[in-house]
Amino acid sequence: MTLVHGSDAFAITPNPAPHRICVIGAGAFGGWTALALLRRGAQVTLVDAWGPGNARSSSGGETRVIRSIYGPDRVYTEMVKRSFELWAQLDAGNPDPLYVETGTLWMNRSDDSYVRAAAPILRDLGFPIEQIELAAAAKRYPQIDFRGVQSVWLEAKAGALSAARACIAVRNAVTKAGGTYRTARAELQPIANGRLGGVRLDDGSRVEADAYVFACGPWLGKLFPDVIGDRVHPTRQEVYYFGTPPGSQRYLPGQLPIWIDFGERIFYGIPDAHGRGFKIADDTRGEAFDPTDGDRTPTKEGIARARALIAERFPELAKAPMIEAQVCQYENSPDGNLIVDHHPGAANVILAGGGSGHGFKLSPAVGELVAEMLVAAKEPPPQFRLSRLKEEAKPTTQFERKRVS
Ligand SMILES: Cc1cc2nc3c(=O)[nH]c(=O)nc-3n(C[C@H](O)[C@H](O)[C@H](O)COP(=O)(O)OP(=O)(O)OC[C@H]3O[C@@H](n4cnc5c(N)ncnc54)[C@H](O)[C@@H]3O)c2cc1C
Repeated sequence: MTLVHGSDAFAITPNPAPHRICVIGAGAFGGWTALALLRRGAQVTLVDAWGPGNARSSSGGETRVIRSIYGPDRVYTEMVKRSFELWAQLDAGNPDPLYVETGTLWMNRSDDSYVRAAAPILRDLGFPIEQIELAAAAKRYPQIDFRGVQSVWLEAKAGALSAARACIAVRNAVTKAGGTYRTARAELQPIANGRLGGVRLDDGSRVEADAYVFACGPWLGKLFPDVIGDRVHPTRQEVYYFGTPPGSQRYLPGQLPIWIDFGERIFYGIPDAHGRGFKIADDTRGEAFDPTDGDRTPTKEGIARARALIAERFPELAKAPMIEAQVCQYENSPDGNLIVDHHPGAANVILAGGGSGHGFKLSPAVGELVAEMLVAAKEPPPQFRLSRLKEEAKPTTQFERKRVS
């Protein structure tokens, strides 16, 4: 809905932007999209098959990293900056904040050009970043063994976001702002004359809207086999939590930052932000995974690799008990960039996904982008468009996205 001023004050323009919008998927992308649309005056119905941040979704589980180093790609660092503002707005007055600041420590085993390329962008956008000499790092973080590390960088404004809990908070903000939320699986009605005719829900009801946003994470390819298909490729990812010594402060935020061990394999970890243990994950892409029926039992091999990294890097925890594990999936695009674009055959449909293991932090800015595409005809950045995916791309990692050159 567009309001204009002047003689025709507050009349609706002859060609109004879509007003009733159905968002399918209440993960990080869909939830924030729904909220951004409500803030721009739209009527919103948000639908999810299993609920916001459910355990099958890519936004489920305990925590996600928010950091601003994105190599030379300023678009992402700008989105992180805006997302920080929106996460803080959501957290205002929250006695149990969704964001816990820890900083992120980058431990580079060899080349640190990815971090170096980001440094001027961070400084320009007001994010503090410092390189720490190895001896000083060892002194500052005695719980870490820096052997094999060539360079250490710290970005101070970074931390852990609660994952499932944030999705629920966003859904609650959606309903508080007047949006409707429904737990149901949505099925597409036919696309005719370049427009989607609606979605059908499990209970047989239909939702008809002026526009539809599909933010279905790892399911996006199945819903849109022709337009997305394998361009969203879900991979199996394991996450482990190890128990720290009783009463120890060394693995808590304040003493331990989020850390990234940047070598042939990339491991990363989050300090014990919520009493769940020392989190460690291997960012290497796992096998292809079915988000609905895939087996979520952690593997012995994966646990052994995590243990080996802990023994090397955090020797005090070498024999720590594993207290929890989760199997999640990344919803990878071919080049690691997000996918945010209009459906090429349905003018009233936007597709938002391809978080590729790094999308959570960005979700508030993604929601704003999608909302602006609908109400203000904003165009997505070229690297988010479907048209870029005509070329063949290489797989990527969460921390070092390589684009089609
Ligand atoms: C282990 C792990 C670690 C990660 N670490 C980080 C990190 O540290 N930092 C970071 O920024 N990002 C990280 N990510 C990536 C990030 O979490 C995801 O990119 C992001 O959460 C994707 O959100 P989404 O809304 O696109 O997808 P999802 O969260 O999967 O949401 C899609 C939703 O759509 C619903 N749905 C699907 N089909 C239908 C249908 N037909 N009808 C109705 N509903 C439907 C699903 O139930 C689901 O809730 C990580 C991901 C994983 C798995």
